Amino acid sequence: MPTPTASNADLLRRRSAAVPRGVATAFPIYADRAENAELWDVEGNRFVDFAGGIAVLNTGHRHPKVMAAVAAQAERFTHTAFQVAAYDSYIELAEALNARAPFKAPAKSILFTTGAEAVENAVKIARCATGRNGVITFSGAFHGRTLMTMAMTGKVLPYKRGFGSMPAEVYHLPFPVPQNGVTVADSLKALDFLFAADIGPDRVAAIVIEPVQGEGGFHPAPVELLKALREICDRHGILLIADEVQSGFARTGRLFAIEHSGVEPDLITMAKSLAGGFPLSGVLGKAEIMDRVEPGGLGGTYAGSPLACAAALAVLSVIEEEGLCARADAIGETIKARLETFATRNDLVPITAIRGLGAMIGFDIVTDRTGGAPDKETTARVTAKALAEGLILLSCGTHGNVIRILVPLTVGDAVLAEGLAKLERALTL
Ligand code: PMP
Repeated sequence: MPTPTASNADLLRRRSAAVPRGVATAFPIYADRAENAELWDVEGNRFVDFAGGIAVLNTGHRHPKVMAAVAAQAERFTHTAFQVAAYDSYIELAEALNARAPFKAPAKSILFTTGAEAVENAVKIARCATGRNGVITFSGAFHGRTLMTMAMTGKVLPYKRGFGSMPAEVYHLPFPVPQNGVTVADSLKALDFLFAADIGPDRVAAIVIEPVQGEGGFHPAPVELLKALREICDRHGILLIADEVQSGFARTGRLFAIEHSGVEPDLITMAKSLAGGFPLSGVLGKAEIMDRVEPGGLGGTYAGSPLACAAALAVLSVIEEEGLCARADAIGETIKARLETFATRNDLVPITAIRGLGAMIGFDIVTDRTGGAPDKETTARVTAKALAEGLILLSCGTHGNVIRILVPLTVGDAVLAEGLAKLERALTL
């Protein structure tokens, strides 16, 4: 049992002694309890949660319907291993996801536990279905910390340093970001060069893209790029994989962010908000592709945990019953409008490039509002000051200067307004 009287300082000291440095924690607070968009630490300090456990809590902390579904499942059984004795909730969830697939072809779904595991398995399925090896991803992308997904991740520090050689046949294209001076034409030209210099298109199994780049800085993939990739994939028999681990489940105002583009992916990776705080991930894809792997080639002891499946079924109903896609749009509008006013004020840190889809909103902190450089130090100061104000706020981005907002979509208007007021104070010079 945890010590009930533990202080943050005490836990930090014990953590430093017992847990390696390799797993970093953004803030020196230790959680005691949480509800919807609020969290209390072990000292009783209250925080408005704009992080949602890194995009896991679109339906908030401990949504009553999710908790009830998990409790009911726990009364029946907690684990059997789907490979040993399968269960209804896994099948029902697969059916529910297939019915919501953003493509016309018949769909199938398979479940895992973490986002990285979903991405790994999407690559395995794509390689098996195409008989090819090559995987193309983007600079700034984040796909996970396992060996293959680390290779696919487009950022060296801190994700790749010290971990030896990367798995072969992974290639990166520059991701189009106006602030980085990279256009869609640049990305497509780089793909032409890649096909000419490194790997012929006939050896590429998949192009993997986040419809909104998450860790890389909350950059929506331009529709023009997604359309061009779809066309190139069709021309060369390459599969297009949308990594929706961070952008999925109503965050952007649609169930999947790729729906904004009208482009149909072949496979989709899902995790995070799929199960409202319980560990669950999956691959949803065209049935004809998904069925190419021989029995036994996919799975995992905990993959598709019954507790998490029950949670995910509740999450899907909550998204629909509470209209969370529309709510994401409304929250996004409120946040953007407020940020636009912040961007004009001289008494606040200079912010620019307010962007995002639905409630997946990010902005840059720069040294100077008119064409300044990315300001990582000030960004770190802002998140630390936000914490002192009682707001959990995450940064991200290749240059570490992006603030991202991942507030639960179930947040009430009052708590949202309170969080934005805290953000304003955190930005004050
Ligand atoms: N893909 C994307 C787009 C992500 O944002 C993340 C996690 N931030 C992952 C994959 C990896 O997920 P996990 O940490 O659950 O392995």
